[in-house]
Amino acid sequence: MTIADLLQSIQKNIPYIARTNLQLVSDAYQLAAMAHSGQKRHSGEDYIQHPLAVAMKLAEMKTDVTTIIAGLLHDVPENTSITLAEVENAFGKEVASLVEGVTKLGILKYRGLDRYTENLRKMFMAMAEDIRVIIIRFADRLHNLQTLEWQRPDKRRRIALESIEVYAAIAHRLGMWQIKSELEDLSFPYAYPKEYQWTMSLTQDKIKIQEKYLEKIKQIVTKKLVAQKISFKNISVRKKHLYSLYKKLVKKEGDLNKIYDIIALRIIVDNVPDCYKILGLIHQAWTPLKGRIKDYIAQPKANGYQSLHTTVFCEQGQIVEFQIRDQHMEDISEHGVAAHWLYKETPSGKSKIQKDRLVWVEALKELQNNSESHQEFLEKIKSDIIKNRILVFTPKGDVIDLPEGATPIDFAYRIHSDLGNACRGAIINDQLVSLDTPIKSGDVVSILINKNKKKPNSDWLQIAKTYQAKEKIRDALKKDQGNFVSRILKPKKP
Ligand code: MN
Repeated sequence: MTIADLLQSIQKNIPYIARTNLQLVSDAYQLAAMAHSGQKRHSGEDYIQHPLAVAMKLAEMKTDVTTIIAGLLHDVPENTSITLAEVENAFGKEVASLVEGVTKLGILKYRGLDRYTENLRKMFMAMAEDIRVIIIRFADRLHNLQTLEWQRPDKRRRIALESIEVYAAIAHRLGMWQIKSELEDLSFPYAYPKEYQWTMSLTQDKIKIQEKYLEKIKQIVTKKLVAQKISFKNISVRKKHLYSLYKKLVKKEGDLNKIYDIIALRIIVDNVPDCYKILGLIHQAWTPLKGRIKDYIAQPKANGYQSLHTTVFCEQGQIVEFQIRDQHMEDISEHGVAAHWLYKETPSGKSKIQKDRLVWVEALKELQNNSESHQEFLEKIKSDIIKNRILVFTPKGDVIDLPEGATPIDFAYRIHSDLGNACRGAIINDQLVSLDTPIKSGDVVSILINKNKKKPNSDWLQIAKTYQAKEKIRDALKKDQGNFVSRILKPKKP
């Protein structure tokens, strides 16, 4: 791989990039190549191939130029005589602080599962400052996994396990499915060699046959869509990733016939109405399986995933899953948080921050649809949207995203209404606190419950900061009042 390959990839993936920015990438490459000159990777390649590969991956993920430059320089301060201060002098504070973040994160050592939550927490803290640090770290790890065969055998297993248990777990929580699957599939043969062999021998023949069959179905569907004049962006045959197939196989006790989504057809269209049109078209052609029609557009999964799924008895009675979605849903499902956070180049050549833009736009739309009056709409925006967000941890290490100033009440209701209703106290970082204590980013919060009292106090309406929690409290209070009234009005049994 050469710098020319990288520049070409950047121009393809970031069409509006300014010439001056391309020049900066070249300059960063020159510095990195000079700094690493004479150093070799375990594979025997020149060291510069590693930062080049990392930068290439970042370009493919359509990150901004600053991230790509930091990717090129990510190993410079730690492994060469060039210092962080010199990087800052040449490329500015933003690049330097990304490189610093990546370096710091590298120092964290994996010490097995007992350190798991703590590692996750530290990674997330770094992310809360700038998610681009984590994205560079993912790209770094992916290339290290691709070249894992050159490592010492004992190191291979440790790196592979860490990649699945820490890195992939974080990618999962951020909804970055694409990265998560790549991390898992590259690690799988090294982390669990026997299980890998078992999965391969069980599935590969069937997958080959299925692939050929689905190519035929793809032709049939394409013809139907053209005949109905429904435009679509793309129809593709999607194989289930190997590691997730392995986990599902374990769940189904090795019975491949119980897994319907080993291979699926994914159809990407321009808009939501077309998604439903195509669903109708497929159901007209083939009989759907009972209970397998999923409308994740009307009812998105908790992680924001949206799509229509259906499984049908297709040609020759074979069972086929279809996934239908628009491009926005596809981006969210592949890149998760990154789809919201990535910085985009604009035609004016200026790099514009798009942090959280999609999230806000979607949240605004939803609020607008559910609001009775303009006044109410403005109130909701003030309480949930405009405020800065904080990232808070459950004791298991899951991350909950809340507005600044949120309290344990908001936290509890964000997780589940039942947890909110039964809440009687909270522990923040091992300290018992009152329910009106504001939570800070990085806090670990656990909720104490009272199993016998599943109703909120009316003064919680003052304590809760999120619209969502207030709404749920009001609902629960109303319901309880209803019960009270019906108890009184209920005629006594003779
Ligand atoms: Mn590296």
